[in-house]
Amino acid sequence: MTTIFGKIIRGELPAEKVFENERILAIKDLYPVAPVHLLIMPKKAFPNLQSVPPDEAPLLAEIFSVAQKLANDFHIEGGYRLLTNNGADAGQAVFHLHFHLIGGKHLGPIA
Ligand code: 5GP
Repeated sequence: MTTIFGKIIRGELPAEKVFENERILAIKDLYPVAPVHLLIMPKKAFPNLQSVPPDEAPLLAEIFSVAQKLANDFHIEGGYRLLTNNGADAGQAVFHLHFHLIGGKHLGPIA
């Protein structure tokens, strides 16, 4: 199933890119909830975290490394949140796996 993020990855829709390699793309969220709100996603399409098979663990690890790098790049290494919404009950709106990297202000309780 194609999604907004699939279209962004294929260059069919614009986005403000902050990191890209062969496997991973990171962009600014169009509707940020904090001064820094980035979306880190694999280019390979998985609907969400729960659908990622165990043999893709290295890809997940690389996403976490990219999150560390972007936290440094955006000067939020002292405090940030990295989260994924898995499924409709969690509020997932775009069914292409992505992690929100959020920071730049004091973050309140999660829920
Ligand atoms: P989800 O609710 O699926 O975890 O997160 C989807 C995120 O995508 C939301 O934070 C929303 O603001 C963001 N978003 C939705 N449409 C677009 C878009 O066209 N471009 C960008 N850069 N972000 C988008």
